[in-house]
Amino acid sequence: MTLSAPITQDVLTLPRKLPEGGKINLVGLTRDQLRAALVAAGTPEKQAKMRLGQVWQWVYHFGIRDFAQMTNLSKDYRALLAEHFVVELPEVVTRQISADGTRKYLVRIAGGHEVETVYIPEETRGTLCISSQVGCTLTCSFCHTGTQKLVRNLTAGEIVGQVMLARDDLGEWPVAGAPKEETRMVSNVVLMGMGEPLYNFENVRDAMQVVMDGEGISLSRRRITLSTSGIVPEIARAAEEIGCLLAVSFHATTDAVRDTLVPVNKKWNIKTLLDTLRDYPRLSNSERITFEYVMLKDVNDSDADARRLVKLIAGIPAKINLIPFNEWPGAPYQRSDWERIEAFADIVYKAGYASPIRTPRGEDIMAACGQLKSATERARKSSKEIAAEAGL
Ligand code: SAH
Ligand code: SF4
Repeated sequence: MTLSAPITQDVLTLPRKLPEGGKINLVGLTRDQLRAALVAAGTPEKQAKMRLGQVWQWVYHFGIRDFAQMTNLSKDYRALLAEHFVVELPEVVTRQISADGTRKYLVRIAGGHEVETVYIPEETRGTLCISSQVGCTLTCSFCHTGTQKLVRNLTAGEIVGQVMLARDDLGEWPVAGAPKEETRMVSNVVLMGMGEPLYNFENVRDAMQVVMDGEGISLSRRRITLSTSGIVPEIARAAEEIGCLLAVSFHATTDAVRDTLVPVNKKWNIKTLLDTLRDYPRLSNSERITFEYVMLKDVNDSDADARRLVKLIAGIPAKINLIPFNEWPGAPYQRSDWERIEAFADIVYKAGYASPIRTPRGEDIMAACGQLKSATERARKSSKEIAAEAGL
């Protein structure tokens, strides 16, 4: 597959019908799709709105998967549902818990493929990092996922399913009749796992709409951050159709360096990307964009880089997230020294931007940003392929 070839939905997304028994999985259906599915299964048109609300609440508010437990539905209607549908999540193959509390789930999806989902607890919030693709078509030279070929796009159900399985594991579903929990364990979702979310646009959008829906999981759009390597044509669309916060994998201040780190830059260079980003906050009605910047020793970490960076993004409401490079076996880079990272952060901060240095989490279980990769590694890019695309 060539560097920037758009991924077509039809080829890479599995149909929603499950092979076993031909039942439809309700997880990941949008409200409209769920309503249509209920009607097609025999729900009278007159009752469709009410049934949709009831089923939606059981599945997404209470996390119930067994129709028999949907107690406000008649026995006959529960049987009808069970005959046509399942409520199924991807399977958790392994769960690793880091010394710092980070949890990494290896998740198996239809076809036997695997993706990773990471839960990062913090004092005042908990962030779930979810994947949008198995592997990635892009070949950012510092990213472990980038060494794995794209196997396929995740379906909307598999994306929503990652949020639901984490809530299962953390025991977070509300119990009917119990008082409302104030603090949420999964309070934030970031699309920063495996894959480029904007190359799986429709499924990511549908999944986030389900996650944001006020009568279900109900996360506010300001608690969802989509991270992109800079797929320019889809950025405005993300603002309009999803409206969540945006993070951009910026990582370099000249096109020459960004071409090697984030090769999609050859298609949409720094200027084109920044021009597009200037419109994002207005279009999405969100406050500011996060610029992610991985700190690579002697590659992009000089004072001159820091100064260029603040000049480039002048006028864009922004926060700059400095990510100390997370090493992985065979990686061609090293993490910048701590003093260098601090000096860089200082320049950015003095220019008026928040410049938090992201503490690597879950390093002992290889759960940190950019270390995710399917354990099976069935489809691996050759080093030649990576070098060619990165222009190394
Ligand atoms: N494909 C999307 C989202 C997944 S990557 C994107 O590229 O934005 C999430 C973040 O981790 C990105 O900013 C990515 O550049 C960064 N990243 C990738 N590999 C890394 C590594 N080894 N160390 C630190 N950050 C890394
Ligand atoms: Fe893909 Fe993002 Fe990794 Fe680049 S950084 S290879 S876009 S997952």
